[in-house]
Amino acid sequence: MRRMRRLTPEGMALLGIVLFVLLAVLYPAITVLTRGAPPAAENPGAGSPGSPDFEIIGKKKEANPTIRVWLDGSLTEMKLEDYLIGVVAAEMPASFELEALKAQAVAARTYTLYKRDHGGCSAHEGADICTNSNHCQAYVTDEEMTRSWGSKKAEYLAKITEAVTSTAGEAIYYQGETIQVFYCASAGGRTENSENVYSKALPYLRSVVSEGEENSSHYYGKATVSVDEFKKKVKKISPAISFDGVPLIGEITRFDSGRVQSIRIGNQSFTGREVREAFSLNSANFTVEQTEDSITFHTIGFGHGVGMSQTGANAMAKKGADYIDILTHYFTGVTVG
Ligand SMILES: [Zn+2]
Repeated sequence: MRRMRRLTPEGMALLGIVLFVLLAVLYPAITVLTRGAPPAAENPGAGSPGSPDFEIIGKKKEANPTIRVWLDGSLTEMKLEDYLIGVVAAEMPASFELEALKAQAVAARTYTLYKRDHGGCSAHEGADICTNSNHCQAYVTDEEMTRSWGSKKAEYLAKITEAVTSTAGEAIYYQGETIQVFYCASAGGRTENSENVYSKALPYLRSVVSEGEENSSHYYGKATVSVDEFKKKVKKISPAISFDGVPLIGEITRFDSGRVQSIRIGNQSFTGREVREAFSLNSANFTVEQTEDSITFHTIGFGHGVGMSQTGANAMAKKGADYIDILTHYFTGVTVG
């Protein structure tokens, strides 16, 4: 039997130096290797320029947590995966491709978890989320599905249930954190950078092409108002406006996506978003046709244009894309899992 030799003090010192050098060499390598999904807190500013309110919350996957939903005037506790069936049914036509419905299910799950972890629904105390589509996220009950689907209910419900269960627990992450999900019915050929619609520039909400939307009934839109009505609505946004001695409609500038960035009306300028809201236009991607007594807006796309286009998602699925292809196309630099 060989006896271990005791280390002398000199030997200990040498060993210490060797270990220190090894660590110094290995540490950067270890850091690089683990950079795939670092907590965002370790990368301040890297992922969220101009968004100081972008909170960092440690994430670990949860198996079907309970969600507090504000539904029909009261708080209802539901299992997340059950709740999502009602959300996907409400937010996307059940006739869409299964992979598009799966993308919607993952998007809705991500939206729900993000909302819950960032203060919940601000309109209803104690609720993680409400069913008002203008505030949080739409939801339909089983009775509402029966009413709107009729004889197709069994088929559609099975399809939506599959979209939810086959992606159970999966969400969209950017640098290890759930993302703020946006989606719209149709992006009119190109989605929009988040800062061009909302104030916040988010690295995963970048403008990308959205092909195959042209055949959707949502693609082209039109809204006509009389010149009097037009002036009245514009005055509502800006009471001090004057139409005297200046063209009614002047210069229009656009973002690369085609959406209106600014439009000169009378002696003032407005954003495309302001005009879209004032006239309830389908989108901010519009042209203006003016006659002696009327103004007609011609729009392309439906919705704000940020994030996933549902029509585009369906078109991608028809061409063979799966839900991960769809989500990573519309949300830049994300992982799904
Ligand atoms: Zn809400």
